[in-house]
Amino acid sequence: MSELEIRDLHVAVEDTPILKGVNLTVSSGETHAIMGPNGSGKSTLAYSIAGHPKYTVTSGEVLLDGRNVLEMAVDERARAGLFLAMQYPVEVPGVSVSNFLRTAATAVRGEAPKLRTWVKEVNSAMSDLEMDKAFAERNVNEGFSGGEKKRHEILQMALLKPKIAILDETDSGLDVDALRVVSEGVNRVRETGIGTLLITHYTRILRYIRPDFVHVFFDGRIVESGGAALAEKLETNGYASYGVNEPALV
Ligand code: ADP
Ligand code: MG
Ligand code: MG
Repeated sequence: MSELEIRDLHVAVEDTPILKGVNLTVSSGETHAIMGPNGSGKSTLAYSIAGHPKYTVTSGEVLLDGRNVLEMAVDERARAGLFLAMQYPVEVPGVSVSNFLRTAATAVRGEAPKLRTWVKEVNSAMSDLEMDKAFAERNVNEGFSGGEKKRHEILQMALLKPKIAILDETDSGLDVDALRVVSEGVNRVRETGIGTLLITHYTRILRYIRPDFVHVFFDGRIVESGGAALAEKLETNGYASYGVNEPALV
């Protein structure tokens, strides 16, 4: 059993407060959806947990199984079992998908995976995600389409086997077929019992990935929590009833 605990988290970007007291606990086997309008701070939450240097935690705590995540170096967070799929994944010029995955797996597992079993693992995970084998030789995110970027993220998640995964807008920019394949990929990893925090703007991915809990994110904090039915309410009513979301002017 693992538990990611976010306690009264306040985060600023360049002195502008963005997160204003986020409280959330994600345990193994649970899927939490965070839904909110653009600019409400959803990606800020993901980046803060990832340890991006632009995001300054001004107060609050993030604990993974009782250990202080905010004091860990970025690679330590991955070794501790946190996985983050970013809304805008970065290019890694000159590094192939295949090398990247093996380096990441070595870092997270603490030893290089045995080559024979590793190749089988990668091939099987790629075929699950309906990815062509040639993809492994391409450079990470270089010229990837939206769908390829997201499949690559889920491929990493499937191979790294984290305790808690945070997926930021994994659904954005996907056509229906890619959304189905990516969602099935997430569901397969979910079945292994990990805890998932699924950040999204639109409800459509929640038709494929059923959340146990839905949280409405508005102006830097969670303003309402409920079960899957809350997503249906949002689909009908949108976010207007929570007020006017005014992204900080920066
Ligand atoms: P969401 O993911 O919900 O759309 P974000 O977390 O991306 O929201 O953004 C929340 C607010 O923080 C916005 O007003 C945005 O302009 C600001 N912000 C986020 N990241 C940065 C950054 N790296 N530099 C400057 N402003 C930022
Ligand atoms: Mg946004
Ligand atoms: Mg975002």
